[in-house]
Amino acid sequence: MADCIFCKIISREIPAQIVYQDEFVTAFRDINPEAPVHILVVPNDHMVALDQAGQADEGIVGKVFLAVGKMALQEGATAGGYRVVANFGVDAGQVVPHLHVHLLAGRKFGWPPG
Ligand code: 5GP
Ligand code: ZN
Repeated sequence: MADCIFCKIISREIPAQIVYQDEFVTAFRDINPEAPVHILVVPNDHMVALDQAGQADEGIVGKVFLAVGKMALQEGATAGGYRVVANFGVDAGQVVPHLHVHLLAGRKFGWPPG
């Protein structure tokens, strides 16, 4: 999508610290990290939110979550634990309208979330 910042990161039009990329998903470090490890995992094809996904997106949604697990391993986050978050819409504070899953690790996290 033309004006989407994450689409531009995926296509490498704008720089980011990409830590993993394959045909389907890209993972890169958040520009404003909220934890020592803060990685965003996104589908390479633009989609906005889970509620707009259909049966045809079953594969890509699974691939995004599998990549989150792969990144948790790659970052050495599995021993201490990690938090996985996805924000959708205004109340959740979604800023970038390209579906992304946050992988956070390296510190303790509170519950319930703020
Ligand atoms: P949201 O609130 O939409 O779930 O999270 C969007 C995230 O994207 C934020 O944590 C923000 O720091 C990150 N972000 C926004 N713009 C950029 C960017 O240009 N590069 C990178 N690496 N992260 C970004
Ligand atoms: Zn996009």
